[in-house]
Amino acid sequence: MIVSKFGGTSVGTFEAMQRSAQIVAADKNRQLIVISATSGTTNDLVALSASNIDSTTREELLGNIEQRHLAIIERCEEEEKLKDSFYTEFSKLREHLDFVGRDKRWKDRLYAFGEMMSTKIFVEVLKQNGIDAEWLDAREIMKMDSTFGNAEPMLKSIKAKAKEHIHKGTTYLTQGFVGSDIFGNTTTLGRGGSDFSAALFAEAVGADTLEIWTDVAGVYTTDPRIVPEAFPIHEISFDEAAELSVFGGKVLHPATLKPAIRGGVNVRVASSSDPENPGTFIVKESEEKPAIRAISLRKDQTLLTVNSLQMLHQHGFLAQLFRVLAEHKISVDLVSTSEVSVALTLDTAVNAANKVELTDDVLDELREFAEVSVEENLALIALIGNDMQKTSGLGGPLFSALEQYNIRLICHGASSNNLCFLVDHKEAEGIVKMLHHKFIGKGS
Ligand code: ASP
Ligand code: MG
Repeated sequence: MIVSKFGGTSVGTFEAMQRSAQIVAADKNRQLIVISATSGTTNDLVALSASNIDSTTREELLGNIEQRHLAIIERCEEEEKLKDSFYTEFSKLREHLDFVGRDKRWKDRLYAFGEMMSTKIFVEVLKQNGIDAEWLDAREIMKMDSTFGNAEPMLKSIKAKAKEHIHKGTTYLTQGFVGSDIFGNTTTLGRGGSDFSAALFAEAVGADTLEIWTDVAGVYTTDPRIVPEAFPIHEISFDEAAELSVFGGKVLHPATLKPAIRGGVNVRVASSSDPENPGTFIVKESEEKPAIRAISLRKDQTLLTVNSLQMLHQHGFLAQLFRVLAEHKISVDLVSTSEVSVALTLDTAVNAANKVELTDDVLDELREFAEVSVEENLALIALIGNDMQKTSGLGGPLFSALEQYNIRLICHGASSNNLCFLVDHKEAEGIVKMLHHKFIGKGS
């Protein structure tokens, strides 16, 4: 069984939906189809949920949503039926807006409209292409906790519900991103969460393969906008891909690989406008294991340095430091320590989602036992590869390549798949270009 996920751009226009439907039709094993909202729709819904929105903007956003969907519907054979079903959702959406400010719960219900509408349309497009898919409400299966906006999936319940609702031999179409809590309230997995949903579905049904159909030809060696020579990686291990998705490769939602790893599900990332191109396979063990396979760049890094003589030959200092950060829900990314100081970067992926910052409160609390400094305008470069902690000969060429740059912090040794360092953000892209050229090249 293959679980196929199509992202927003792969269902964003009638032509895109047609192409995606033909991909589904090309392999009978594609039996569980998970899709995102049409591209742009979740952004519009998030904008609609803003508390200070004026009525002009509100009508404009609603108009965008309506136009985008109608443009697709007007090309469908079942135009009238789809219009009815779209306007049923759309009028619920309008009514809904009056409640959004009241309670966090209403926001997730609002965001879910995007996926509800896209699946209502896509099920008809599938039918036009000879696939009789059963429309499945993801909220029946994707059980989550009640952390609205960023809910945690409940794996046992998801598995049990999947067993109850999903049967071999039938093709299903369902929504990514959305689920429900034990009270039946709609929940969401956080922005970009459809990949994660699809992986959870794949794990729950014991799929062999999870396909992520997107608008790029796979996972690239680095961002091709920075390095035109970058190319799609043919095969990469779960461990490497996990590092890459966490450290800035934007193709996959960082949580996607966990369920795939647990479930032993191979992942394929490919472009829905170029389906003949194999794209990238993410597998348990990759055949080739280059020391440096990919390079990622993450901007806007904050470095916090905490310095205290108390730390000298003491125990408990790190615990004290991390307790303060934990209490303020600050997620830490990299850590480097010396005898009397600790330098760390904040996990911007997590912190950005939760809008947690190094507030004066946090800093004051730290100042009670240490000197604290904060540096901004840094960028994190991560080299992703294999056996990095034992590759003799990597350090020499790497450090000489970096000779003329100021490296603010290095983390190496914790993972055999990752070596990363902080540099001035103005120099970052140049360094990525240089390293890619030197260590990865053009591919074959
Ligand atoms: N539609 C949701 C979003 O844009 C989820 C997704 O596309 O992955 O964040
Ligand atoms: Mg997406």
